[in-house]
This record gives sequence, C-alpha cells and structure tokens, in this order.
Amino acid sequence: MLTIKTFEFNDIGVNTYVLSSTNNECVIIDPGCYSEAEKQQLDAYIAGANLQVVGLLITHCHIDHILGIAHIEDTYHIGATIHAAGAEFLRASVGYASVFGFELDRIVKAAHFIDDGDVIRFGDVSMRVVYTPGHADGSVCFICDEEQLVFTGDVLFLGSIGRTDLPTGDFKMLTDNIKNKLFILPASYTVYAGHGPTTTIGYEQTNNPFID
Ligand SMILES: [Zn+2]
Ligand SMILES: [Zn+2]
Repeated sequence: MLTIKTFEFNDIGVNTYVLSSTNNECVIIDPGCYSEAEKQQLDAYIAGANLQVVGLLITHCHIDHILGIAHIEDTYHIGATIHAAGAEFLRASVGYASVFGFELDRIVKAAHFIDDGDVIRFGDVSMRVVYTPGHADGSVCFICDEEQLVFTGDVLFLGSIGRTDLPTGDFKMLTDNIKNKLFILPASYTVYAGHGPTTTIGYEQTNNPFID
C-alpha cells in the first residue's frame, strides 16, 4: 500500500510528494523545498512518520522541481534519479535559479538515470517510468498501476498542460505524448501533477482544452 503526502513548496508552488510503503521506505518526487522552513517541514514529516528515504525521483529538471536536491543529498545521502535527457538542465541549474529569483550554492549531479519502461521499486510499491518530453527534455511520468495513479510533473495538470515556450518545449510532442502515453491509461487513474490539485485521466480526456 502507498501513502502519499503532498507539500507545496517554493514561490512557484511545486508539489513535492513523499510516497511511503507499508515497510516505511519512502521516495521523494520533485524536492521543491527551498526555504529553511520548507526543508524543516519535509524533514519533520519524514522523521515523524519514521520513514527511510530510499529514492529521490525527478519528473524533470526545471529549477522549481530540483531546488531541494542538495538538501536531500546532504540529509539523507540519497542522490537524484533523472532521465539523462534532463542532465543539461541540472548542469545549468545555478544560472536558471538566478533567472527565477532563487540562489543555488552548488550544481547537483544525477546519481541514477531512468528511461522509458524502467520500473522503480521500494517496499511493496512498484512504479513504471514513461518518457514524455514536450514540456522539457527529460520529462518522465511515474505510473503506479496497483494504486491506479500517475505522477505527471509538468506534463499534465488539472485542465491544462505544461508550457512549451521554454527551451526544448514542443507543443506537438507534448500533446502527442499525453494522448499516446497517458490517455491510454484507465479513466479512473488519479493524476498527481507537479502543480495544482489532483485530477483524473478520465476528467482530462473529456475536459482538457489543449488535447483534441
Ligand atoms: Zn517544468
Ligand atoms: Zn514546474
């Protein structure tokens, strides 16, 4: 069984998810924690639930989703897992940070790489990786079939999709990937997006104005 804790972190409002299994192993998706208070909030939850951090998954390496990687590395000694196509964003992260009004004191590197079709396991949970670029190179979604849910990062939101005007953005690629890789999931699947509230695949199939 999977327990999901959602935090909304930093001024851009990224959803950081802590997913924990019944054996208390957990993975963190998109560590957006930036301020000391946000880092403490995350740490207090992990300590309070007696969780052991075993993975740090990044849906894509845009700055708002990676601000807390160094904190997770320093505190839990767990490095980031990314798709290799996103590595350039990490290399350039200090520069991107300043553009968006953040300050990063060091460049972090990926510790592990994932690709389309890979399966991530912790405790009794397994999630498969689908590669869904179009918002940014290296964008992946994590699908847990057993729990009928998908973490979409900035690919798919409630009633919206990721912006495609940033470097490596491509509207057609993004909408094709949503149609061909996400909208093939059962309508009942819950969508946990990188920003904003949850939705479902079925709701988006019917109502998302960006996908015909
Ligand atoms: Zn993004
Ligand atoms: Zn984002």
